[in-house]
Amino acid sequence: MLGAIEAGGTKFVCAVGDMGFNVIEQIEIPTTTPVETMKKVQGFFQRFDIQALGVGAFGPADINPNSTNYGCITTTPKVAWQHFNILSSLKEHLDVPMVFDTDVNIAALGEAKFGAAQDVDSCIYMTVGTGIGVGAVNNGKMLQGISHPEMGHIMVRRHPEDSFEGVCPFHQDCLEGLAAGPAIEKRWNEKAVLLKERTEVWEIEGYYIAQALMTYILTLSPERIILGGGVMKQRQVLPVIYKHLQAMNNHYLAFPQLEDQIADYIVTPGIEGLSAIKGAFYLAKAELGEGSSR
Ligand code: ADP
Ligand code: ZN
Repeated sequence: MLGAIEAGGTKFVCAVGDMGFNVIEQIEIPTTTPVETMKKVQGFFQRFDIQALGVGAFGPADINPNSTNYGCITTTPKVAWQHFNILSSLKEHLDVPMVFDTDVNIAALGEAKFGAAQDVDSCIYMTVGTGIGVGAVNNGKMLQGISHPEMGHIMVRRHPEDSFEGVCPFHQDCLEGLAAGPAIEKRWNEKAVLLKERTEVWEIEGYYIAQALMTYILTLSPERIILGGGVMKQRQVLPVIYKHLQAMNNHYLAFPQLEDQIADYIVTPGIEGLSAIKGAFYLAKAELGEGSSR
């Protein structure tokens, strides 16, 4: 049996699955304090006999297996979780091999292995939710350097009609500061889910996401782009993203993926809601010696 955790800023999704990566049981635990949340997480896994565990967490996080802080959430704006080591906490009660990475990296891996990017060798997964995070997978491996990439915090050019100051506590008007869910809600003073009919909202949102994708395409050249997270449930933003991206590209990159095939290139998740969980299962199984994916 395999274990998976998607540790998010609002909830922890915990799941157990079989060796064929099928979910057997899954629960959601609210992200409150580390002590309270981790106690419930431990309680869930104690009911099963798992052989390995894959964990994907919100970042920034220490994902270097050789680091003494491996498994640690680092400079998160969520104060209670700053420098909290999720893996060490899990190891107190669970003696199985564990792998730790970011939520978006394992979501990208999940989509590459089981979802919308199975037919290509490289993809990126972008979540637009409470924050913006991007994971990149190339030939089954997550892109990693000193740490994981932090592509949600790139700088963007402002939309001419947008005077919103931005909400990123570190950079103010970076991509996340201008385009994540909390930015939309503060700019328009309304729940994002209630803004569906307001075309000006999605015009600005699509402009920022398109700029980000333009940068990722120019720098990484991914073969597929998957857009997930709560904000992307507003599917009407997709054509706006396509329109702006094509205008920005101006036929410079002359790939069909940026022309008539754009709707097959920039897509929503193939296994929506399970991208990270299945990626975590995959990593857990690989950790058992079935071939490492990192
Ligand atoms: P998390 O980032 O914690 O994993 P989500 O991806 O659901 O969770 O992100 C939550 C954010 O996404 C909130 O800021 C909310 O405004 C926005 N959001 C959630 N659902 C929707 C929706 N259906 N339409 C628009 N925005 C949404
Ligand atoms: Zn930022």
